[in-house]
Amino acid sequence: MKKCFLILLLISVIHASGQITDGCSYTKIKQFTASQNKTNASPLQMQLMEKYDVIFHHLDLHIERTDNFVSGSVRTIAKSKVLHLDTFAFQLYNSLSVDSVINSAGKNLKFTRVGDIAYVKFTEPVINDNFFDAKIFYHGFAPSGNNAAIGNGFSNGVSATYGNRITWSLSQPYSAYEWWPCKQSLQDKIDSVYMFVTTDTSNKVASNGLLKAILPVGEGKHRYEWKTYYPIDYYLIAATVGQYIEYLDYAKPKQYSDSILLQHYIYNNPTAFNIDSKRDIYGTREQLELYSDLFGLYPFYKEKYGHVMAPFNGGMEHQTMTSLGYFNFSLVAHELAHQWFGNNVTCATWKDIWLNEGFATYLEYLAEFYLFPSSASATLASIHTKAKTGIGSVYVNDTSNVNRIFSSSLSYSKGASAIHVLHYMLGDSLFFKVCKTYQIKFAKSTATTEDFYNLVNEVSGNNYWPFFNQWIYGKGYPSFLVKWNYNNGKLYIKTTQTNNQDPDNLFNIKIPYQLSLTSGDTIIYLPQNNATEYYEMKMKDSVIVLKEIDPLNWILCDKKIARDDVLTAVIEIIPPAEISFFPNPAHGTLEFKNPVQKVFEVNIFDLLGRLSLHKSLTSLFPVVDISNLKPGIYWVEMKDDSNFKKTEKLLIE
Ligand SMILES: [Zn+2]
Repeated sequence: MKKCFLILLLISVIHASGQITDGCSYTKIKQFTASQNKTNASPLQMQLMEKYDVIFHHLDLHIERTDNFVSGSVRTIAKSKVLHLDTFAFQLYNSLSVDSVINSAGKNLKFTRVGDIAYVKFTEPVINDNFFDAKIFYHGFAPSGNNAAIGNGFSNGVSATYGNRITWSLSQPYSAYEWWPCKQSLQDKIDSVYMFVTTDTSNKVASNGLLKAILPVGEGKHRYEWKTYYPIDYYLIAATVGQYIEYLDYAKPKQYSDSILLQHYIYNNPTAFNIDSKRDIYGTREQLELYSDLFGLYPFYKEKYGHVMAPFNGGMEHQTMTSLGYFNFSLVAHELAHQWFGNNVTCATWKDIWLNEGFATYLEYLAEFYLFPSSASATLASIHTKAKTGIGSVYVNDTSNVNRIFSSSLSYSKGASAIHVLHYMLGDSLFFKVCKTYQIKFAKSTATTEDFYNLVNEVSGNNYWPFFNQWIYGKGYPSFLVKWNYNNGKLYIKTTQTNNQDPDNLFNIKIPYQLSLTSGDTIIYLPQNNATEYYEMKMKDSVIVLKEIDPLNWILCDKKIARDDVLTAVIEIIPPAEISFFPNPAHGTLEFKNPVQKVFEVNIFDLLGRLSLHKSLTSLFPVVDISNLKPGIYWVEMKDDSNFKKTEKLLIE
């Protein structure tokens, strides 16, 4: 397999505070060593593994900081989801040797291995809702280079800056099986996990949950015993081994009567704990308190939050213990944000990764907005700039391409820009209500884009399909060309929007126009629901200039403004835009676009001409429930009491 290197640059601005006062731009480098076509187990193999629900894992491993050799056992307790489960299938990279598999009575179980999948035969089938308990003993060197995702699943390396040698894991999205036997299914969170690691006494081990014990085991070794009792996704389980100095701190969010432990494992090198990183390490406290205010109490408050340094560029949000290469404000803000958006609520499929990465990137901006407002607008501008370079939709259609899943322009920046647009459309109060409700409704679970869309509708009481259709599923962003004139006490505005990635994907959005009047500046909001909108307004004060549109940068867009002296009272007559519907093919619901908001009728006929559905509609974007209609081809007739009548074919899936 050909190995390729992709350097993804995410520009962000470090906040101006303390020593850094020049507001310089700061480059955050995320280095992806990615194979283009890395995939998970096949659908058939996944089906086999979906026959059980993992309840508990106990990883009991030997790991040193000197190489990426791993040995030990993984115990799995799982519940059968089928009538008779006769095989326990799991994923383990083919170069790692399985020594034996035993059941809870210590009896050896037969197993076979085909590629990266192992099949364990039970002596008796496990019936529905009953548990099985199996322990897999294995050992070997984790693979490096040939099948890597974001780096390898399990790596050994030396920090170029600080010289410390470390062994660390990074399993997202499909690399957990490169270092431990597992089931790589996003929607099967493991209820609790023990991570025991035996290593040289000169090492420390960082992992998920709480450190319950460090036990001497003889021969110069000790065992770190970490336990977590919060549901956790397979890719968020991690172990990092090296020489560290531990720094403790406590956050005190007002939503919790006690304090929350912050545990930082910093290289045992005095320069690693320098003034800059110290500020960002201890800055975690106020970020955690801020996010608790905005999105609800830190989800893992009964355990802890921490950082462990490892020699890779960027960070990885391992649940309750982020791994990162270095400290800076936005990287800490990003990975901490994932504890809410990614770990408490995890994307249900990799197609929905923007629900993790879009939010985490957006929270880099929000953390600055609240804690270091002076540099926030520059961070927002850099997110928008990066978002414009993305070709395609925020929603990921091809999850076999790891580079596409983790596209910094689409999943990260355009995801963040789209969330900012949604924030603008909903307003502060509704936006944070949506976020908090999302954290409660999908707590310790997973969510799809559709779940989030339904939640936005539910909380707002409005239909946000146009937003999702245009910004998340659709490609591109709007370019606005604004022409204006002021004549005889009247302001004339003609705004045209285009989208160079998809001319058919036009955006419905209220645009803020900043006017300079003789009495001072003011902002007016005018809806853009068509390719071109014309406005004529009688003004009380004289207009000096139409200064700017969207001055606060809410909308990801390009904009051009020009005075046009020809634009006067003779406004062009806009042909009434026609009633239409989408999507086609459709499933569940059908949405109509009724640009002039007239009363109209919808009749849906099947191929035999039988009336299957009839509705009378008035609103701008009425939604019709078609879930009762069987899949197939239909004719949709739209008509009103004037002479408008249109019939179009519809495929219901
Ligand atoms: Zn992230």
